[in-house]
Amino acid sequence: MSQERIDLIRSKLADWKDVDGILITNLTNCRWVSGFTGSAGHLVITQDRALIGTDFRYWEQAAQQAPEFELVKVGREPHMAKQEDLLKMVGVERIGFEASHMTVIDFRLLKKKCDEIEACSLVGLNGVIEPMRHVKTADELAMIRKAAVITDNAMSAVNQLAKPGMTERALAWQLEKHMRENGADGMAFDIIVAAGPNGAMAHHHPSDRQLQVGDTIIVDMGAMLDGYHSDLTRTFFLGNEPDEKFKLVYDLVHTAQKNALNNMKAGMKGQEIDALARDVIDDAGQGPNFGHSLGHGVGLNIHEGPSLSSVYKGTIPAGAVVSVEPGVYLPGWGGVRIEDLVVVTTDGIEFLSHCPKTPIIPV
Ligand code: ZN
Ligand code: ZN
Repeated sequence: MSQERIDLIRSKLADWKDVDGILITNLTNCRWVSGFTGSAGHLVITQDRALIGTDFRYWEQAAQQAPEFELVKVGREPHMAKQEDLLKMVGVERIGFEASHMTVIDFRLLKKKCDEIEACSLVGLNGVIEPMRHVKTADELAMIRKAAVITDNAMSAVNQLAKPGMTERALAWQLEKHMRENGADGMAFDIIVAAGPNGAMAHHHPSDRQLQVGDTIIVDMGAMLDGYHSDLTRTFFLGNEPDEKFKLVYDLVHTAQKNALNNMKAGMKGQEIDALARDVIDDAGQGPNFGHSLGHGVGLNIHEGPSLSSVYKGTIPAGAVVSVEPGVYLPGWGGVRIEDLVVVTTDGIEFLSHCPKTPIIPV
């Protein structure tokens, strides 16, 4: 897989401001291209060479995980200060770097070093590797599928686990335990449990607030497996008979989500898919209470491209994995968000989330 990705990058270099090579410093991109999972390292790829630079802690690991790359053993200096070694070795004139990832200080340092050794000129590139990650391979899909199953199973346990008097924090811990015991390497992000009025905050952090009969409860979580993430939200009502407001808001969000899921497909723009759900919520007068985008790509990052948002004009390709998660948030009352993970296909979608939508938790 790495060799294919190296070849793909080589085929693009001329399109990227005509660079002779690229320095890749974003660790997620490094991992996607090379397979290297360490926490410090960088790649340089030119038409003839593919180098990986890392420090003592990762020499063995880099050799094993990235055999297509020549290992350059850098010392203990801050790793940015050693990137010029790789640039000197490849000896080309124009090297692209990931401008949206490098700090100003790192750039100045690297530029100074390059000037001193008259190595090469640095050319800022923006977001050139990330779009290559939009379409998932079969192996990547298999990993996300597994992470989604672990998440589905934990979410399906909420109906049993959530009880009046339990804190948001305690429920979040039970769910984390469930996912860890069923194979998750870790959490895709800190689990969100937002009960009652806390649900009005889209990214509420679980608190000591106790669940009460009559609460709306948003649970948003995902498992991480071998670097790949999943993402799932369900909204529950704790009590035997939901009030009218819950029914109204839940039905609206659910209808909006279904309209997107039933009508989206590859080739549509991100903003067109966003509109499928947003128009339904706008028409009900709740547009101002749906303040985030409809969805995001999921892969080696929990939030990555492509985006399903009103400002994203890019096309969503077949094979992209995205979340579809409309929500309505009412300050003082709470919120409803429903999120599924799907693969976009040429004629629609395939669900990666299979957790049922059964919002009522009887007490
Ligand atoms: Zn989520
Ligand atoms: Zn999400």
